[in-house]
Amino acid sequence: MSFVMKLNQDDQILIIGGGIAGMTLAIALIELGFTQVRIFEKNLTPEVPKVPINLGTNVLRILDEFQLAEQGWQIGIPWNQMSIRTKSGKVLNDLDFSRLVITKEHFPMTANFARLHRILWEKLPADIFTYGEEFISFTQNDKEVEAHFLSGKSVKGNLLIGTDGFGSRVRLQMLGSSEVRTFHRTSYEGIIDLGKLESTNFEAFHKPFIQYHDKSASFSAAPVSSDQIGVSFSIPYDGDTPRSVSTIKELLPGMFEGWVEPISEIARIAAQGNLFAWEEKDHKPIKVWSQNRVILTGDAAHSSFPFMGIGMSLTMGSSVYLAKMLHENMKKVEKGIKLFEKNRSKATAEFNRFAERNASMFNWKQPLAGTLRNMVYQFLPDGYTESPVIKMMNTTYMGTAVVETSSLSEKDPDSASTQNLPPNE
Ligand SMILES: Cc1cc2nc3c(=O)[nH]c(=O)nc-3n(C[C@H](O)[C@H](O)[C@H](O)COP(=O)(O)OP(=O)(O)OC[C@H]3O[C@@H](n4cnc5c(N)ncnc54)[C@H](O)[C@@H]3O)c2cc1C
Repeated sequence: MSFVMKLNQDDQILIIGGGIAGMTLAIALIELGFTQVRIFEKNLTPEVPKVPINLGTNVLRILDEFQLAEQGWQIGIPWNQMSIRTKSGKVLNDLDFSRLVITKEHFPMTANFARLHRILWEKLPADIFTYGEEFISFTQNDKEVEAHFLSGKSVKGNLLIGTDGFGSRVRLQMLGSSEVRTFHRTSYEGIIDLGKLESTNFEAFHKPFIQYHDKSASFSAAPVSSDQIGVSFSIPYDGDTPRSVSTIKELLPGMFEGWVEPISEIARIAAQGNLFAWEEKDHKPIKVWSQNRVILTGDAAHSSFPFMGIGMSLTMGSSVYLAKMLHENMKKVEKGIKLFEKNRSKATAEFNRFAERNASMFNWKQPLAGTLRNMVYQFLPDGYTESPVIKMMNTTYMGTAVVETSSLSEKDPDSASTQNLPPNE
């Protein structure tokens, strides 16, 4: 199907998935003047898990453009150093990130994911969200696209944008199945109260993001607020199978026994609280993210192995860029979509390769390989944080949405859907 697609600012834009990509896209589109933006989310409420999330500087830049910088500073704690250590606490390298902090407003940080989600949610009008609608398929012709939901409901629009994450149904229908790449590891993540720890002088409370590595498992920690710390235990599968959270809670204290304190203490406390499993996996980069009126962005288009805040930076950057390309090419939408695909798929593939290489270093299980990895860490040059990829991730993102107006109003705190809000922390 080939046709010239035009877009008006009052055309219906259907966004599938109310995660960070969907909400970032909706904010940018509305700021750019689109009036009929709707988000369909399969979950019944906007609640998301409280997990620590590392954010590259770009995230703060985008929040700043959305006039959310002040709220952004409240969702986490900036760090300007990353310390890499062995399980016994020997420092392999202390990487200085302060040079990446270009202004006082934009910095890498560890945040509470639920808080990031919440400030974006609060920026949007409550009535654009429809919760409890699970998208199953789309149909399209040269005039419109129609989304079909598990409930039996169907909704027509001019564009449909899949922001439904890693297991995207939009992507599946558009591209067929995609190979999932994994090094057979899971991160078990949680946020624990500082008050529960005896070791109040743990350095991660004070600013650096700290990682500790054994030959196969690793642990990282960073503060997310003045009285909470985000922790992550990265553990290989049991053979070919990820371990469930309940299994890992039983194993965690034993697995981290003998690591330098307070790691074993943290492992005991974390095992008593809420932990969430994050499969470390990605999709091999692809170049096609659209099919006529249907477009992908966020993890649905480009997922990455975890690496210093890459996922969120790419997700938010792509969504803002897509909004801008649609706005700038309303008379010839195909051109905007092609520019989005071309520019973002090239950039995200570069980060993806970098993250995949980094992830592969964690998969070395033989003692010799672990020693080699630690040597690599030890000899990372001082200027490593200014390498092109890290710098690009932290100092630029491709395309900006010019936020000229403050057209989005604060939500009415008494409006019906605020009853679905995640509880205040
Ligand atoms: C535990 C965990 C920790 C992470 N830590 C980091 C980190 O430290 N730094 C970092 O940069 N990145 C991190 N990431 C990755 C980052 O969270 C993702 O890159 C980012 O959330 C992608 O946003 P998204 O909106 O594209 O997808 P998602 O966050 O997956 O959101 C997709 C949304 O679509 C909804 N949805 C799915 N299917 C349907 C459907 N059929 N119909 C309707 N709605 C649907 C989902 O419920 C969800 O709300 C982490 C991810 C996880 C899970």
